[in-house]
Amino acid sequence: MNQAVIDLRDVEFAWTRAGTPVLSLEHLYVGKGERLFLKGPSGSGKSTLLNLLGGVTVARRGSVTVLGEDLGTLSASARDRFRAEHVGYIFQLFNLVPYLSVLDNVLLPLRFSATRREHVRTRGGARAEAGRLITQLGLGAALLDRPATDLSVGQQQRVAAARALIGGPELVVADEPTSALDADTRALFIRLLMDECASQGATLVFVSHDASLEPLFDRGLALNDLNRSRRGPRVDA
Ligand code: ADP
Ligand code: MG
Repeated sequence: MNQAVIDLRDVEFAWTRAGTPVLSLEHLYVGKGERLFLKGPSGSGKSTLLNLLGGVTVARRGSVTVLGEDLGTLSASARDRFRAEHVGYIFQLFNLVPYLSVLDNVLLPLRFSATRREHVRTRGGARAEAGRLITQLGLGAALLDRPATDLSVGQQQRVAAARALIGGPELVVADEPTSALDADTRALFIRLLMDECASQGATLVFVSHDASLEPLFDRGLALNDLNRSRRGPRVDA
């Protein structure tokens, strides 16, 4: 079997200790290099699941194993370190730092990860690698010194992707990063993101409520099918 990047077993997550779980997953396995599409309507737990994968939150039951590390056994600071070293996160609203240039936004993850610094060092240095990623994702290298906020939404999204990818994290997670784009730009962006993940050997987990994107991926899963807490008895009118 392909090497596991993500292995979730009997995971249950709730926002409060005694609260009803918003997420209850029996099993989720993602192999190395896989490109997984997770679809689900708003509120189905997509962001919650990505937060578990990145060690932002912990499950109250079961195990969340990412790259062989059982995240539930780590302290909060160890989980932060794990995320900084191994996970590239693309947020829905990009979370670029407005007063920093495009270049400095892309370089930001290197400050928090020796592994990622070492990775760019072997590829001609941080600036060269930032320029390569920006160009690969379809932006002109001339934008590197511009403030991130000068850019259009589509451009900002590519900067957010370059920031997630720099330093070769093994896992890239994307939380509805295309919701502000038109259909053509969306498909192109996803192809560029996938090409770059493939060339880095990264595994991609991409979530969206837009099921039309699913054919672009190796595999698609519906969160409402995976999530036992959403599979109560149906009452049909
Ligand atoms: P999605 O990303 O699929 O839209 P979320 O994972 O954000 O869904 O939300 C799943 C459920 O958890 C929803 O019912 C949502 O209202 C709830 N939720 C999300 N964030 C919080 C939070 N910080 N505190 C309490 N409940 C939350
Ligand atoms: Mg969400």
